[in-house]
Parts: sequence; C-alpha cells; structure tokens
Amino acid sequence: MCIKKGCASVLTQPHVRFSVEQLRECHLQRGFLDIGYHFYITRDGVLHHCRPISEMGAHVRGFNRHSIGICYEGGLNEDGKPADTRTAAQRFALIDLLTILRHQYPEAQIAGHYQLSASIHKACPCFDPRKEYSEL
Ligand SMILES: [Zn+2]
Repeated sequence: MCIKKGCASVLTQPHVRFSVEQLRECHLQRGFLDIGYHFYITRDGVLHHCRPISEMGAHVRGFNRHSIGICYEGGLNEDGKPADTRTAAQRFALIDLLTILRHQYPEAQIAGHYQLSASIHKACPCFDPRKEYSEL
C-alpha cells in the first residue's frame, strides 16, 4: 500500500482493509516519526487519534505547519480508480470530528488535499469537502 514516496496517501479499494497499525507501519517505512495524519477514520467509523494536534503533521507538503490532517480508510473503487468510498459510519464520524474542530478553530478552512494548491496533484479525498462541509 505504500506507493508514492513523499506522499502520505494510502488510497485503498473497498475490499482492502487498512488498519491504523498498517498505516503506522507504512508511514514509519517512509521515514515519518509516526502516522502523518492527526486522525484516521476506519471503515467501521472508529476515529483513531494518531498524533496530538499540537504536533505538526506530515501529510501535505507546504501546509503541514498550519493544518490538521484527517484521513479515511478507502478512496479507491473496485477498478482502482479514486472514488468516494466513505461508509455511513465514516461520514458520521467525519461530521462529528469536523464539528468539534470547527468550534476549536472557527477560522479554519475545511479543504481536501487536492483543493489546497494547484501544484498538488492528488485525487484525495475523492469528494468535495469545501462544498460538503460549508455549513459546519
Ligand atoms: Zn490526501
């Protein structure tokens, strides 16, 4: 699953499980100190706290210093193409987490990796967070 160097993304197909332990192993192999994201949400909707918000993440070059990284398990369809594969449990967990973070950081923007800069050529998170969470 550790495909691209320098990219924290771990997009996986619907039948592929990618546990928080696998994610940690993958990011350690890439030379990160721990999981690059602050939060990881598995298909079952469980929110895994991966590193404290007070620590800088390692998930998107140029934006790590002032961002909180959230990743969900999945992101590829059966053909291996980027797709919004979030389960209902993941959607609920995301709304819960973002609602809390929105209260803590009212000025923060909610954006997908691909929405941060024109020079970021990533498909993830395979949906439009700016639009979906504009009401939070
Ligand atoms: Zn991403």
